Amino acid sequence: MNHFRKSMYTLIVETSTNLPQDVRKTLEQASEKEDEGTRSALSLSTIAKNIQMAEESKLPICQDTGMLTFKIKVPVGANQITMKQDIYDAITEATKNGILRPNSVDSITGKNSGDNLGPGTPVIKFEQWEKDEIDVRLILKGGGCENKNIQYSLPMEIEGLGRAGRDLDGIRKCILHSVYQAQGQGCSAGFIGVGIGGDRTSGYEFAKDQLFRSLTDVNPNKQLAAVEDYIMENANKLSIGTMGFGGNVSLLGCKVGTINRLPASFFVSVAYNCWAFRRQGVRLDPSTGEIIEWFYQGDGTSQAGRMEAGGLPLTGKEVVLTAPISEEQIRSLKVGDVVIINGDMFTGRDAMHKYLMDHDAPVDLNGGIIYHCGPVMLKDKEGKWQTKAAGPTTSIREEPYQADIIKKFGLRAVIGKGGMGQKTLNALEEHGAVYLNAIGGAAQYYAETLKEVNTVHLLEEFGVPEAMWHYTAKGFAAIVTMDSHGNSLHADIEKSSFERLQQFKETVFK
Ligand code: SF4
Repeated sequence: MNHFRKSMYTLIVETSTNLPQDVRKTLEQASEKEDEGTRSALSLSTIAKNIQMAEESKLPICQDTGMLTFKIKVPVGANQITMKQDIYDAITEATKNGILRPNSVDSITGKNSGDNLGPGTPVIKFEQWEKDEIDVRLILKGGGCENKNIQYSLPMEIEGLGRAGRDLDGIRKCILHSVYQAQGQGCSAGFIGVGIGGDRTSGYEFAKDQLFRSLTDVNPNKQLAAVEDYIMENANKLSIGTMGFGGNVSLLGCKVGTINRLPASFFVSVAYNCWAFRRQGVRLDPSTGEIIEWFYQGDGTSQAGRMEAGGLPLTGKEVVLTAPISEEQIRSLKVGDVVIINGDMFTGRDAMHKYLMDHDAPVDLNGGIIYHCGPVMLKDKEGKWQTKAAGPTTSIREEPYQADIIKKFGLRAVIGKGGMGQKTLNALEEHGAVYLNAIGGAAQYYAETLKEVNTVHLLEEFGVPEAMWHYTAKGFAAIVTMDSHGNSLHADIEKSSFERLQQFKETVFK
């Protein structure tokens, strides 16, 4: 097993930087379903560009490493203790090399362990089997989509759909609702794994297990296969679209499994995964630990399922923003406008927003731009910081703080993904600011525009993802989705998708 550590490192690199063929193929098909020039089509084109850049540069597809979860099947007698240590070593090395962002923090203090190791991270589950081979599956599931997981306890009332009973109809209601409630915040279009049964803990774990199934498999249980088909046919009628911008594709895959439950409980657990569906798997030689086979690779032709990688196509009508931005310029922007940002931009995530509530900012933010982003940063040989991945993080987490911070510091633009709530929308109107939606997960695409790193603030206190990075942006493209006139694309899509959800109650579920 002297190759096991190296094989695990290769698996981690491949999972973080290269989407499997079944996922690529599905994204390609989604792309064909969106009308040219729509916001969803533009987003998919940026996503395609990002996937290509990540593969070519061997850098993370998305800056959010997510929860590293390994599922390993071993022959009887395999030494799980040394295998675990090899995985820890491989993770440490991948983190050091910028393949993974340091993503494991103390739950109370928020202190980052710096190497992705710590109590509870990574998740490694072993299982013994009779076969004389080792099967390792890895998924990197990011926080944005993890936060959109949901569990239903039947029977219950589901908003928009009414009563959901302990039957297949009730299950379908839960799954449709799970897609609706995710909106664009988990970087739609998404993939869902559904676990029926179990207890609260095993139900969620089983739901996540479904994400390890190939997208092209057919459920051997005919009833569940019919549920999967039904959901794939109907969830897209919600028209949530890529990034929640509205569009024809809201769901890319649905896999449903069932395990036994207690008579008193009936859980339907849904694991929601973003478009950046980073899961790979390998079969290993049990004596050497060498990789014998990669899973999820379809017919093995490396070019199959490659999307046309255009990036966000520019028309020349984009508005260029450079901080400090005037109120007049902000007031001229409307939902749907595409902006290009050049000049100063500062990152700020959860820890920074909480900090700014009670402290002065380390820089002058008046007229400035805050980017909800926790980048992957590495120092080069000369000790200069390099941006390795820098896509947006989910903005709604900052909703409790954002309005106060816009007011306190005179911000003119907030960039993130998934949109924000009414309190922020009111603050944008009152103080003259906009919310800009960047394309979630497009970490390489945006890293290219944020190559110039000026300095970093509060790094020691908060760690790499939560520190305030000061960039000089060059050609950073984003879409105005909340303007200073009370308009929110996110609120509009939520409302229209809710109306569509209700139609299922009136027609299908009667
Ligand atoms: S694509 Fe979006 S949800 Fe997925 S890991 Fe990246 S930021 Fe998180």
